Amino acid sequence: MNRYTQLDIPGYEEVVRCDNPEVGFTAWIAIHNTHRGPALGGCRVWRYESEDAALIDVLRLGKGMTYKNALARLPLGGGKSVVHCDLKTVNRTALFTEIGNFVETLEGRYITAEDVNSTLADMVVVQRRTRHVATVGASGNPSPFTAYGVYCAIKTSVKHKLKRERLDGLTVAIQGIGETGGRLAEMLKKDNCRIIAADINTEHAHSLREKIDFHLVAPDDIYGVACDIFAPCALGSTLNSRTIPQLLCQIVAGSANNQLQNNEDGAKLFRRGILYAPDYVANAGGVINISCEIDQTYDPKKATQLTAAIEQTLMEIYRQSAQQKLPTNVVADSLAEERFGATLTC
Ligand code: NAD
Repeated sequence: MNRYTQLDIPGYEEVVRCDNPEVGFTAWIAIHNTHRGPALGGCRVWRYESEDAALIDVLRLGKGMTYKNALARLPLGGGKSVVHCDLKTVNRTALFTEIGNFVETLEGRYITAEDVNSTLADMVVVQRRTRHVATVGASGNPSPFTAYGVYCAIKTSVKHKLKRERLDGLTVAIQGIGETGGRLAEMLKKDNCRIIAADINTEHAHSLREKIDFHLVAPDDIYGVACDIFAPCALGSTLNSRTIPQLLCQIVAGSANNQLQNNEDGAKLFRRGILYAPDYVANAGGVINISCEIDQTYDPKKATQLTAAIEQTLMEIYRQSAQQKLPTNVVADSLAEERFGATLTC
């Protein structure tokens, strides 16, 4: 049976912990802000180093969703769930049944969805216990929309920084050529870009090369390749004090969440004259697509149009960044804070 504990975390509307020793998991739902609507954010399953690490992750991810949803102008707030367990030993159906019960206790203030290590099949199990779950409807896999949004972000950044309407002849270095990075590479190839990629999964990268023509480099070499655009499409924190000095690009735009190790890294990019498309703006296509199945009949055309509007959001950020001489991540944060109606201190 689930046992729930309310946690009092400053800056968050509601944080609840759920323990279930019989099934073998501890989970948290963090609702950061619901001024724009119910908090939407996926359910991440991970074997964390500690319970503290899991709590830190859910807080950081939940807050990030508030900013992402607000800047995408979605009628949604931000929240997230994380489940701390060992997927090798846990009964998956029992786990997601109880996660469904957990989500239901929040009575719609939080809507869950797929995320790292949770699948569409898991969300179907969650749906048996709660209707507050997205990605089980018609919107399908969010990755093509995320990749399309990043493609739009690259085009916008090129227009702003390089004063070019077209991408042909440009070189793009893609870090992580998976669900989103691979699709992005395909779109850029159609525009006659040259692609250089790195992936720690060399077997996957080699097999993808049979389909898409790109030059493969070792994972640590991707930072220093001569390119116009660097696209981080793997994990977070890859833009930091070790990697930023190596970059030879003019633009950074990719799908990965939390690309900057910390806010100061945005300032480092700015001082180097590298235009940074804030990650939660560039990678919002997936959540925009999911939002199109909540309380409405899903329309892929509408999802595509809303994703393409990432261009206007980015242009406004770039305009203000140039005018105020502030890094783009700082401008994006303050625009998002205006939109969700509160400047938070945490
Ligand atoms: P994915 O797992 O399909 O692809 C990631 C790829 O990066 C994998 O092929 C992996 O082997 C590779 N990789 C991992 N670490 C690496 C490293 N250090 N160097 C080079 N390659 C590395 O994941 P995805 O769905 O494409 O997501 C990529 C990023 O985008 C993640 O940060 C994710 O949170 C974020 N994101 C994804 C979506 C989406 O719709 N899929 C939406 C928003 C944000």
